[in-house]
Amino acid sequence: MENSDGRSADCVRVAVNIRPLITSELLLGCTDCISVVPGEPQVQIGTHTFTYDYVYGSTGLSSSMIYDDCVAPLVDALFNGYNATVLAYGQTGSGKTYTMGTNYNGEGTSGGVIPRVLESIFERVKETKDSMEFLIRVSFIEIFKEEVFDLLDPNTSRGDATSATKPVVLGRVPIQIRESVNGGITLSGVTEPEVKTKEEMASYLSSGSLSRATGSTNMNSQSSRSHAIFTITMEQKNGDDILCAKLHLVDLAGSERAKRTRAGGMRLKEGIHINKGLLALGNVISALGDEKKRKEGGHVPYRDSKLTRLLQDSLGGNSKTVMIACVSPADNNIEETLNTLKYANRAR
Ligand code: ADP
Ligand code: MG
Repeated sequence: MENSDGRSADCVRVAVNIRPLITSELLLGCTDCISVVPGEPQVQIGTHTFTYDYVYGSTGLSSSMIYDDCVAPLVDALFNGYNATVLAYGQTGSGKTYTMGTNYNGEGTSGGVIPRVLESIFERVKETKDSMEFLIRVSFIEIFKEEVFDLLDPNTSRGDATSATKPVVLGRVPIQIRESVNGGITLSGVTEPEVKTKEEMASYLSSGSLSRATGSTNMNSQSSRSHAIFTITMEQKNGDDILCAKLHLVDLAGSERAKRTRAGGMRLKEGIHINKGLLALGNVISALGDEKKRKEGGHVPYRDSKLTRLLQDSLGGNSKTVMIACVSPADNNIEETLNTLKYANRAR
């Protein structure tokens, strides 16, 4: 399937999600500097206009629309045996974690993508389990300074965040990325528990989120400089027929430039590493969108970072990818917002 402009309609879709102004911005007297063109997937900022596959303004209905438009087709793909990836991109504070629902703890309702995915998967399993046997596993890792860490490893987990006696992070052993002969990517020794209910799945999401490495910068004390990847792997068995696929739900590291956080020393090094993953991701997605390059079997630079290497079998090819670029509408963020919109535009 192709769009009129010759791009593959199925490969990578790009959505922009504009969150409302938040209290801290209103207190600073910030104003809204971005507008959505009515009825069009277009945003206007200053003299620039950008077009995407989808644009969500702050209507309050965004999260169900994001799920229906962008994510539900990926859940379908998973059930049909295709790998898929949802990526949340944007500067710290732009709404990545809110949009993904990465911090969902299983209680009450969260409007985020991940809780809706859990809901929908188990609903579907319930409908089909008479004719199919399902084996569902989850893993939750983060990539921090170009190393992969297991957020579900009970030996190094910070699950009990209040315990001061428990040594954290220091004891973490990085995980190796392996590629099988058929091109499948695996993480050697990663904790990958089987889950039978959405509550169980949510409990792993929540304990993994607590283990996520965060550091304080002057932009946001909860600023996250790591990429967090929650992966659902599904095996469907019907007699001798086995269908296996995985869905990656990725809350990317903040896309702001190091200088913006006035970071120095160690922090700066982290900043540079994070940029490496985001830079490589941009290059991979842009290469995938380049129809001519793909047809000629052109080079897609997956090997340039741990992030793209890990996602290699779930970006491009038969897999489906959605990037949700998150932005703040506040005028004091205009520079980073423009960077995000340009990055997302290039992805498309
Ligand atoms: P990020 O993960 O990109 O750093 P967060 O998801 O933590 O950003 O969002 C930053 C702040 O904005 C949080 O206080 C969050 O609750 C708020 N926020 C984000 N998106 C929305 C939204 N769509 N509606 C209301 N508040 C939001
Ligand atoms: Mg976050």
